[in-house]
This record gives sequence, structure tokens and C-alpha cells, in this order.
Amino acid sequence: MIGGADRSIRLAAFEWLTELRGGLGEVLPRATLLRGFEHEGSRIGLMSPAQGIWKPAACELPLSIATTVRGPYTDAFDQNTGRIRYSYRGTDPSHRDNRGLRQVMRDRVPLVYFHAVTPGNYLPAYPVFVVEDEPAALRFSVQVDDIAAVSTTTRSFAQHAIGEDDPDARRAYITATVQRRLHQAAFRDRVTRAYREMCALCRLRHPELLDAAHITPDLDPTSDPVVSIGLSLCKLHHAAFDRFFYAVRPDYRIEVRASILHETDGPMLIVGLQRIHGERIHLPGRTEQYPDPTRLERRYELFREAS
Ligand SMILES: [Zn+2]
Repeated sequence: MIGGADRSIRLAAFEWLTELRGGLGEVLPRATLLRGFEHEGSRIGLMSPAQGIWKPAACELPLSIATTVRGPYTDAFDQNTGRIRYSYRGTDPSHRDNRGLRQVMRDRVPLVYFHAVTPGNYLPAYPVFVVEDEPAALRFSVQVDDIAAVSTTTRSFAQHAIGEDDPDARRAYITATVQRRLHQAAFRDRVTRAYREMCALCRLRHPELLDAAHITPDLDPTSDPVVSIGLSLCKLHHAAFDRFFYAVRPDYRIEVRASILHETDGPMLIVGLQRIHGERIHLPGRTEQYPDPTRLERRYELFREAS
């Protein structure tokens, strides 16, 4: 088992990440993770500058694992087992880093898993546990658990929520919610970037007030989150879009509902909704990222029915 110092660093790392997410949101920049946090006089980085498996000098065993391969993120999730697949470092099962993860598995030590949403931007999941070693496939299987599970006193909330005492079922459930979070974060990140981090309607440039709206409902949570199925919208315009205050026609012009156009109210209504009527939305720089006209058409039909 790991000693008290290592355990205390791990818990401090989880707390620090939770705090960071409170301020920065779900997706964290690599530079911040490399710098890490101050713990009892020394600095603890959260991520390796060069490798996927990271063990800070002050820890006995690895503290985090990060995705190093770029590719569809769905590859990382085994849909049958609800687990995350994590490749060995290199092809030598007895490499120091791979041995470290094996030890983590035996001792049931919690880790942080970082998944690259875009190069240099990671979505963290923690605590995660290495649950299986698959030497033939040169990889480990990892499951996400909830933070209450690392504390010895609190019975986990999720356990109650799904009425489940079986840790494997509980973790499969939580891992699936992480996959969903990852999907949403990847989509939001790609869409808002494509629109140069502004609202397609009003050009508001505050990323913390921007969403990636789905033009039509996202029926398949595992589909590739391509930019063309979404729109970068500020909170107001997102909510107004969802409630059919306006539609974006397939020719990229905005059509505001007649009842809204005829309403009399303050500046938000005038500037935010009435004046955008007939305007063309701001489009991404690349044509293949333009909103899909077929989806806009489908949405426009729903708008017509609703108004
Ligand atoms: Zn807006």
C-alpha cells in the first residue's frame, strides 16, 4: 500500500482539479496541469511533459495517465465493458511505467485520467482505477469512480443513486457519464473555436458565456462531434434558439418569430432579437464547418410549425 504522504498528495490533487474546474470549466489547459500546485512546500505537477504515465518525484506510484494518441475519442472507450482502454508505454510490458500502473492496479490506488479534447486541452476524470491488465493487447483497462469512493467514511452518492453495491456496475455507469461529458466538451470546444470564440448571432466574445448548440437534437451520443451539426451561440441566443424565438434558415439568414418582432420591450429585446431579423449569421472560416443546410432546413420546418 502507498504511504500517507503519497495518499495526501493524491487527495490534494483531486481537490485542486475540482477547484480549477470551478473556475475554468471542464476542459483544462496543459500548461496549467504541467505547472501543478503547491503541496507542503513542493510543487506537484499533474501531468508528464513528455509521456502518458506520470509519477511525480514525491509520489511512490503514478499519479496520472493522459491520452497521447490523437484519434476519435470513442476509441478509448470499450462500449461493451464500459471501460477506458489505456495503452502500455511502448511494447515492453515490464517498462518501469507499465510496472507502476500494474502496482497501482494491485494496490487499488486512485489516479487521474486526462483525455485530450483538442491538442493541449484536457478533460480530467478522477478518481480512476486500473482494473485489468491485458498484456496480449499491450494495454490496461481503466474505470472511473466517484470521489466519495476514495473516502473511507462516505458511502458514495452514485451508489445510492443507482441502488448498486457492485463496484464494477457502479463504475461502468460513471465511466459512461464521463464519456458523455467528454463528448459534450469536445463538441463545445470544436464549435466555439471554429467560430473564433464568438456568438454566431451577436458576436459576443466571452467564451464563458458561449455554448455549442445542436441544430437538431443529438440522437447519438457517440457520433463524431463535427462542427457542422452545431452553432456557436451565447447563452441568450442558445436558449432563444431552443425555444423557437428565431430560426437560422438554410441560406444562413436569421428569421425571428413574428410575435417577437411585434413585441414592445427594453433594449435586450430590441438589440438582441428584433434587430437580428434578416441578418446573416457569422460563419466559421472553413466552408466544411458551415452549419449543415439539411439540418437547418429540418429545424426551420419545426420553427414554422411552432410559430
Ligand atoms: Zn448572442
